[in-house]
Amino acid sequence: MLNAATLKRLIGRAYLASPLGHYALRQRGCILVLHQVVENDREAAWPHRRGTCIGHQAFERLLIWLRQRFQCVALEELLQQPDGERPRMALTFDDGWRDNAELAFPLLQRHEIPASIFLSTDFIGDSTQPPRRFWWEAIADTLWRTPQSPDALRIRDALWADGAPMPVSLLRQEASNWRSLAIARYLQTLTRLPAEKLEAITALLPAPPSASTLDWAQVRALENSGLARFGPHGASHSILTRLDDAHLEAELTRSHTALRTHCRHPLSVYCYPNGDHDDRVRHAVAAFGYRYALSSQLGLIGADSMSMALPRINVGYVISGRPTQLAWSLFRGAWA
Ligand SMILES: [Zn+2]
Repeated sequence: MLNAATLKRLIGRAYLASPLGHYALRQRGCILVLHQVVENDREAAWPHRRGTCIGHQAFERLLIWLRQRFQCVALEELLQQPDGERPRMALTFDDGWRDNAELAFPLLQRHEIPASIFLSTDFIGDSTQPPRRFWWEAIADTLWRTPQSPDALRIRDALWADGAPMPVSLLRQEASNWRSLAIARYLQTLTRLPAEKLEAITALLPAPPSASTLDWAQVRALENSGLARFGPHGASHSILTRLDDAHLEAELTRSHTALRTHCRHPLSVYCYPNGDHDDRVRHAVAAFGYRYALSSQLGLIGADSMSMALPRINVGYVISGRPTQLAWSLFRGAWA
């Protein structure tokens, strides 16, 4: 008997190969969103990483699969013209992870595929400041790698004080699928806490030996290659819909200014942290001169798309491991 995942892949593959699917995808462009590309495919498979990580080898297989089926264009090109002779696709990366330059970019160059990278600008380092870490990465990494360490206990105590008691089992010294899943679920519950509290907990942890996010020199080098362009993804990665007017303005100003200071040709596209937006946020972003904005909602791009809330298709470990799974997302996106 077919399981659900196999059935989805078969439907997706049939859709992609059918005249109907091919016609529909030539009319509507597709924006993919990725986050981290990690060295080892197995590292990306753990449940607490699989939503936003893909392995290096799987990433290359995905690029080859995309090249065979799509015209891979730069984001701004796709936004100007989503339809084409062949289905059009643009790659985006969110947050500004260092691996985008060190692992993803050489493969993008090899396969001549452009990408747009959206930076949470407070986390982009330079020689004058130690690298900052995203709270979800710092907390998950500490719990996963060193569950019995003083740092893990410090996280537990601080979160307990903030009203988010940690299940005891998370601190067991075992690299099991079960514990990884428990970490993923616990992190999800933390998103209800104010970002400042989570950042304060992250600040209690020692600086990692190497930065996990890009620095501005890397950003400039990638931009100079002509294959990558950059846009803002918030400054502190705060969820914009939760900010009051003054904080929203400050967040947009900081990210806007940083991109204009450090990049020669920043994109006139804003990317909402977590994809969250509402009427107030969309108007505030448009007031800064952005013509387009990206959400995380599943869908494809057409002439009728809302320019300040463009949908994308997320690519995590499952899709990258089996690109035919992406065909299912395209099928769903076409009907979204
Ligand atoms: Zn993000």
